[in-house]
Amino acid sequence: MHDQGIGMTSQRTRQRLTQRLREQGITNNRVLSIIESTPRHLFLDEALSHRAYEDTSLPIGHGQTLSQPYIVARMTEILLEHATSKTSVLEIGTGSGYQTSILAQLFQQVYSIERIKPLQDKARKRLSQLSLRNVILKHADGQFGWPQEKTFGAIISTAAPTEIPQELLDQLEVGGVLVIPVGQEQQILTVAKRQPDESISITKIEPVKFVPLLGGVTR
Ligand code: SAH
Repeated sequence: MHDQGIGMTSQRTRQRLTQRLREQGITNNRVLSIIESTPRHLFLDEALSHRAYEDTSLPIGHGQTLSQPYIVARMTEILLEHATSKTSVLEIGTGSGYQTSILAQLFQQVYSIERIKPLQDKARKRLSQLSLRNVILKHADGQFGWPQEKTFGAIISTAAPTEIPQELLDQLEVGGVLVIPVGQEQQILTVAKRQPDESISITKIEPVKFVPLLGGVTR
């Protein structure tokens, strides 16, 4: 137990993680330093918290997972390539709130939608524990985007649809990007960008493995 406590909070454990992310090709130093300083163990149940700084996805209950640090870093890095710190970000799939917490430290305002209420409740507590106040959470089906008519400079989905929902594309500002895993067994991390002429360009990044984007909400 004692070792676990030290392991979780020690700077060295977290530096090992960011070193690994660098080796895997993550280059954005702001993203790396925020990952290094964010307590990922707070986003897991205690029984799993000793594994928080491994570069792996971990279960968070309700059949869902906290994304692997590499993929959190990669998706965040892509958003930053296209957006500025003034950008409002929409996230589909709050889950544990870990990715949300990383975004909240990099962007002015974060809107995040989760369809499973108990996960949202836990995420809300963790975000307030970390004093991250620039986040608005909503319990809804995120495939339809933010319920009020609104557009975003950046949208990220941490659950995979089989096709990109048109509603998410409709909520992209000109110059805005959507980063989203697309597919069933074989998923590809995909970037959709709204060009100055309003058309959408699609770039395929790399194979990934996410939980599916599901319809409807769970209380
Ligand atoms: N970013 C999260 C990843 C959680 S896994 C984290 O860091 O912990 C993906 C999440 O997307 C799950 O919590 C799942 O319930 C949620 N999800 C799936 N389909 C959804 C939908 N249509 N709307 C909102 N959330 C959805």
